[in-house]
Amino acid sequence: MDCIFCKIANHEIPSTIVYENDYVIAFNDLNPVAPVHVLVIPKKHMDSIMAVDDYNYVVEIHKAIKEIAKICKIEETGFRVISNVGEDGGQSVKHLHYHVIGGTKLPEKLA
Ligand code: 5GP
Ligand code: ZN
Repeated sequence: MDCIFCKIANHEIPSTIVYENDYVIAFNDLNPVAPVHVLVIPKKHMDSIMAVDDYNYVVEIHKAIKEIAKICKIEETGFRVISNVGEDGGQSVKHLHYHVIGGTKLPEKLA
């Protein structure tokens, strides 16, 4: 499968890795929208939230988000977690991912 995030997970293409374990990998977004903009993904390919078939990965992603917040020193100041899904959600990469965004006061909330 020609999936750029699978290639990042397999270390076939480079990324700036922030955190990694057997289940997940987290790396800096190529086009950050804030001082901290990390993407956390399952190492197993799933298209989006709608395709999650193993909730062990969801637990691991949540645990990783806490680790990322500590590593990036935003655990006290706060941050936002976003997973875009499908056409209306504006998802551009069809491999489940969560944006962890922080390091500044974030603008406009949609929800
Ligand atoms: P989406 O729009 O699907 O929610 O988010 C995809 C994100 O992946 C975008 O923020 C984009 O900047 C990031 N991205 C796309 N290709 C690459 C890549 O090759 N490396 C990294 N580090 N980020 C990427
Ligand atoms: Zn993939």
